[in-house]
Amino acid sequence: MNTYGQPSVSFSHGKNVYLYDQAGHEYLDAISGIGVNALGHSHPAVTEAIKTQADRLIHTSNLYGIERQQQLAQSLCAVSGMESVFFGNSGAEANEAAIKIARLYGHNNGIDLPQIVVMDNAFHGRTMATLTASGNRKIQAGFEPLVGGFLRAPYGDIKALENIAQNNSNVVAVLLEPIQGEGGVNMLPENFMTELRALCDQQHWLMMLDEVQTGNGRTGKYFAYQHHPLLPDVVTTAKGLGNGLPIGACLAQGKAANTLGPGNHGSTYGGNPLVCAAAQAVVDTIAEQQLCDNADKLGKWLVEGFKEQLSEQAIIKDIRGQGLMIGIELTQPCADLVSLARDKGILINVTAGNVIRLLPPLIINQAQAEILLASVVDIINQFAVSHS
Ligand SMILES: *Cc1c(COP(=O)(O)O)cnc(C)c1O
Repeated sequence: MNTYGQPSVSFSHGKNVYLYDQAGHEYLDAISGIGVNALGHSHPAVTEAIKTQADRLIHTSNLYGIERQQQLAQSLCAVSGMESVFFGNSGAEANEAAIKIARLYGHNNGIDLPQIVVMDNAFHGRTMATLTASGNRKIQAGFEPLVGGFLRAPYGDIKALENIAQNNSNVVAVLLEPIQGEGGVNMLPENFMTELRALCDQQHWLMMLDEVQTGNGRTGKYFAYQHHPLLPDVVTTAKGLGNGLPIGACLAQGKAANTLGPGNHGSTYGGNPLVCAAAQAVVDTIAEQQLCDNADKLGKWLVEGFKEQLSEQAIIKDIRGQGLMIGIELTQPCADLVSLARDKGILINVTAGNVIRLLPPLIINQAQAEILLASVVDIINQFAVSHS
């Protein structure tokens, strides 16, 4: 179906941070399949894991024990401080699991019509519940009736949440992204996370973080909440976890860890041996090659570089990010930049109309980051001239 518009280019293969089109042109991939190819393309550890596992066993269903899934769950819990994991096949499914945990948690505590607070400009996926949770009319319009049980608040406004707490006794959880990806690489005020943790504790709300995009090393820690001394009750992830194989995970701890019991939720494919083998290779490689540190270091270097080199550029409104999740906000819509960049061999993304979003693979090195910085600065300067 015509859900994605006309494609501009297609690729025949990829290696490291590079993609190659049919004609053999090379592109530096600074969007990584929308934050998915954290280890870049054709990473040998992932390829080897997939080949070996495919030779042995691909799928059995969750009617049976899956050793690979148990191993991966243990690795994810060890790296995150969480206690239990449900595996699905995508980010939206990971969030569906979180939403179901929140609702059941509410019902278990005598709240018959539980409400989940979600944020303006949020993106949580395209299923009915997750598009309802998303804060973007464009992805909801035409798909009414939407799902009930969601309340909306401005992003990063702890006062608004305190207000909701005072006026609404049916709230059971808050769901938000630590950095909004699709919404424009929007960041939270420095103290927000700790204030939210305290508010959730006080109100007995579940603090649920959508780390589908920010997880798996993207922001310079394995999960973005690890920049703060706290644990959420529920965290979801997907994208970078499988490096391209479809896997999503919903992790929980404390009172949320065992809310779901036998029969409450399920997935036929979720956490099958093949995708778990690939994800295990990703988790192990992120640790072995210290890719969180690389994302932290090169992310800071890139943001500083952009700020320095674009300081005189009037078309720039803001430059922000954490790790290798970087947003450059322009004063005007700039979707045209995508094709300008592509013609120069750089793949970028523009989101929320006027924000250049960079999500390069976590394996990017200093030399490649230098090329990325210089090219994007060039393209912005060129765009500014033709749009002034
Ligand atoms: C991409 C994304 C999703 C949806 O993931 P899918 O795998 O496309 O279902 C959900 N939340 C966030 C924050 C995302 O970036």
